[in-house]
Amino acid sequence: MDKKQLIKAWERFAEKNDFMLNPDKKIVETIADGVLINEQKKGLKYCPCRLTTGDFVKDLELLCPCNFKTHTTWLEPKGRQKGCWCSLFVVRK
Ligand code: SF4
Repeated sequence: MDKKQLIKAWERFAEKNDFMLNPDKKIVETIADGVLINEQKKGLKYCPCRLTTGDFVKDLELLCPCNFKTHTTWLEPKGRQKGCWCSLFVVRK
């Protein structure tokens, strides 16, 4: 999967949901690059904003997209736009 395909898949994932891809394309592209580098280096599409632990089961929580609605950045955004930790997905207005 290349970067364009990955971003398309994320767009489909966000469709008809209360979140959307960040409208800032530069942020989305930077995160896509990070996810694809992690896939190359570590074998799976891990979040580029958090460190893997080496524990396969624990690190499954870091696969992108993750379960970000449990994160404080979604539950209590405190001055930032409500969204995932990396701001890849933000609340749909
Ligand atoms: S925090 Fe955002 S970029 Fe990171 S894994 Fe979750 S959805 Fe993906």
